[in-house]
Amino acid sequence: MPKNDFDILVIGGGPGGYVAAIRGAQLGLNVACVEADKLGGVCLNIGCIPTKSLLTSAALVNEMKNAAAHGITFADMNVDLGPAQKRSRAIAEQLAKGVGHLFKKNKVAHIEGRGRLLGGGRVEVEAPDGSRQTYTAGHLILATGSRPRDLPVLPIDEDRIWSSTGALFQDEAPETLAVVGAGAVGMEFADVFHAYGTKVTVIEALDRVLPLEDADSSAAVERSFKKRGMDIHTGALVESAEIDEGSVELHFKDKKGEAQTLKVQHVLSAVGRIPNTEDLGLDAAGVDLDDRGFFVVDEYMRTSAERVYAIGDCAGNQLLAHKAMHEGVICVEAIAGQGHGTVDYKNVPNCTYCSPEVASVGLTEEQAKEQGFEIDIGKFPWVGNGRALAGGHTEGFVKVIRDTQYSEILGAHIVGPHATELIGEFVVGRHLESTVEEMDRAMHPHPTLSEAIAEGALSALGRAIHI
Ligand code: FAD
Repeated sequence: MPKNDFDILVIGGGPGGYVAAIRGAQLGLNVACVEADKLGGVCLNIGCIPTKSLLTSAALVNEMKNAAAHGITFADMNVDLGPAQKRSRAIAEQLAKGVGHLFKKNKVAHIEGRGRLLGGGRVEVEAPDGSRQTYTAGHLILATGSRPRDLPVLPIDEDRIWSSTGALFQDEAPETLAVVGAGAVGMEFADVFHAYGTKVTVIEALDRVLPLEDADSSAAVERSFKKRGMDIHTGALVESAEIDEGSVELHFKDKKGEAQTLKVQHVLSAVGRIPNTEDLGLDAAGVDLDDRGFFVVDEYMRTSAERVYAIGDCAGNQLLAHKAMHEGVICVEAIAGQGHGTVDYKNVPNCTYCSPEVASVGLTEEQAKEQGFEIDIGKFPWVGNGRALAGGHTEGFVKVIRDTQYSEILGAHIVGPHATELIGEFVVGRHLESTVEEMDRAMHPHPTLSEAIAEGALSALGRAIHI
């Protein structure tokens, strides 16, 4: 048998692909990663990282609006999206370059170009200059990610109608913006543009914003956004968009079924993502897709074709970077015969970094009831936490859903300051199968936001101290 060029060849250098490649190299395997664009994928270049940079800027703008309470006054406050946007690009580029350094450090071969399966462990790569080369590998990992969904009634042109990518590259905040889709991406951009002076209208087809979150979290965020002056239409369906010079006229049916028209400078279409699973030579390799176009995989990320694996967004389930990274590690460790488990899809944290932040893990109250659990609910508001009060962030709560039989943490939902950091406690708690009682018995430092984790747990037991 001729020797393969690589033990593992990964197609796609996003968080799924690059983590899989590095872990493979750590395990002593000879690994290559083919990337058609920039290392770091959507997450580092046009997703998680630049949006979090812009949201940090937006949070600072919001803080400065209350600066007088801290004795900070200035004659006039001006905000300009330009420098914040430039900063976000610099951070994204720094991190994406960092992946290149990590590849060098771990001796992962970076192959620039677009990969296509030829069957039998062979991959053809078309380099940016159009030249083609074929590589062979013992195992192939498909980590080709996803791209924005384009609604026929709202065709993205990145000029008047933006996807999240178009929205990231604006150096001026428009006067008016309609955000279609109130999932995490839509709500984060609504927050950024609002902070920089845009009049934002959010339009969501389902009956609440952040529809995957607990209904209490959705209600708290909607209240907060409305209080800050954003318009929100839920249960509203966009029917058409007419582009005119300098504006877009959106036609939609509101909750009551009445026709509405909204004229805005730009629209952000944030209605979900679809997998990049076309033109990959799947037939030659015998790789199956499901009816939504995602790769069909088993618990070790194996596709229907022998020695071909798929991870990350293109493999479905939650389209999140941390899920992609975990799948990368599970998959490569299984290849190396060092598998220690599978991905626990029930313990994937969801985070939205708008203001107030929203984070959750496990079941919502509605899901817990639907699944027939006997539950207790605890809800600890931030007004009862000294550190939150000192920081001036008392919107929201920590909500804990407890199963009365074993006192299992069925679900945890946080709205408020640093929710996306704090949710990690519940993720670890659930991973270690802690009871709700144990979340309180582990001592939390005072005064910190983390005390609200213990108080949320105590609330579910009916004995919170500080409320
Ligand atoms: P991707 O990151 O999509 O990377 C796939 C890579 O494969 C790309 O670089 C692509 O160029 C390459 N590729 C595709 N086809 C080929 C081919 N044939 N040959 C070679 N290369 C190919 N997730 C979070 O967890 N937290 C967040 O805060 C968050 N914020 C987000 C904000 C926005 C605006 C967006 C759009 C997404 C956000 N996400 C967030 C989602 C996150 O970015 C994705 O879940 C994550 O990037 C998926 O990683 P991946 O490796 O599966 O794919």
